[in-house]
Amino acid sequence: MSERYARSIADLERSKKSLAGGVSSNVRLGDKPFPLFFERGTGSHLWDVDGNEYIDYVLGRGPLLLGHTPPEVIQATCDQMWRGQIYAAQHELEFELSERVSRIVPCADLVRFGISGSEAVHGALRLARAATGRQTVLKFEGQYHGWLDNILYSLSPDPNRAGDALHPAALAESAGQFSGTESHVVVLPWNNIPVLEEYLAQHGTTIAAIITEPVMCNTAVIPPLPGYLEALRDLCTQYGIVLIFDEVITGFRLSLAGAQGRFNVKPDLTIFGKAIANGMPISCLAGREQYMGLIAAGKVGHGGTYNSLPPAVAGAIATLDMLERDGAAVYATMERTGGRLMDGIKQRAAKLGIPVVVQGYGPIFYMGFPTTEVAADQAVYDYRSSLAMDQELYTHFVSAMVDRGVRIIPRGNWFLSSTHSDADIDQTLDAVEAVLAETIA
Ligand code: PLP
Repeated sequence: MSERYARSIADLERSKKSLAGGVSSNVRLGDKPFPLFFERGTGSHLWDVDGNEYIDYVLGRGPLLLGHTPPEVIQATCDQMWRGQIYAAQHELEFELSERVSRIVPCADLVRFGISGSEAVHGALRLARAATGRQTVLKFEGQYHGWLDNILYSLSPDPNRAGDALHPAALAESAGQFSGTESHVVVLPWNNIPVLEEYLAQHGTTIAAIITEPVMCNTAVIPPLPGYLEALRDLCTQYGIVLIFDEVITGFRLSLAGAQGRFNVKPDLTIFGKAIANGMPISCLAGREQYMGLIAAGKVGHGGTYNSLPPAVAGAIATLDMLERDGAAVYATMERTGGRLMDGIKQRAAKLGIPVVVQGYGPIFYMGFPTTEVAADQAVYDYRSSLAMDQELYTHFVSAMVDRGVRIIPRGNWFLSSTHSDADIDQTLDAVEAVLAETIA
């Protein structure tokens, strides 16, 4: 292994001396076999500094729906760069993009742009508190909504500390998180309407917002049970709670109008990031006029030096141009190639007698190794059920896949792009079979 990754190993050693941990985001500390260094990417392929080539299913952890460096996006971004990097003022691309988001996204009466998903989530929660005059936010165990203090709870809690699966404690994920916010965060299991109903019957009028990914993507990839999102919508309306869909991963990936378009359920506020600009840094907070109007009126604070950064906005317009123009083909391609990959993994594992769970959608799916016998269809339906997966074995699998030139995320998510070809899928399936046979069977 050391020979294959010689330069990355040396780079990491050097980097650690000046860059905390050698990485710029803690998530990358967990990369397998260790945090590698990359040099270039094109389409579905990526090259590391040692010259190793990978079929990439990490895709920047979600943004690269059109693959690495799509020429139209790069061109639009670079053209704008030469006209100016930042004005810290209005520009015409800005409303071209907000008009487009409003047209595409069902709940987006008004829109604001930022840089990261985390800060857009922060804005949505602030809006919900201001609009309702309530303090408490309800989130679901195993969901991630960014790294800021007031929502970084119970992403991967120890069940022994979090306690009762149906009424888990809100556990801070990071040392140093502002103490006191946990009394304003309620955590419940996802995909469970009876528990939510019971909770709201007692406390519904104290809850400012329910925030959720409409498809849970930070614990496995968990589709909502039939009727779940609709019931969430109805309960929020009943109790005057602001429903927030965090579509940082699902946005523009599960359909042009995100998961809210795919499932036809309209939240009050929504957040996009990642795929909106195919890798350029921009996020979007959008929603009903009743709430976003508080920002428009200057009553609720929202700011940022880099908001609506012209090159990122240009990249987003080019991305949405391509998705609006070629969307049918882009989404059909990902559903087909991703579907082939999901089916293929199941078949190759079955051939070797290895139990495997594969669930989700063509554009994003989850793979894991169950420790107990599980139903094949949707083995993982919330955070606690995900704990029945053998994470250690999967980590081992990931390292072996990377060694074979297939880059995947240690947590089990696979992202597809419109540039993944049938040849990529065939090569990936051969690698899956070889790794399963060598290391697991
Ligand atoms: N929300 C979800 C669902 C995410 O997956 C992420 C990041 O992965 C965020 C919010 C935070 O976005 P960012 O990393 O751009 O701050």
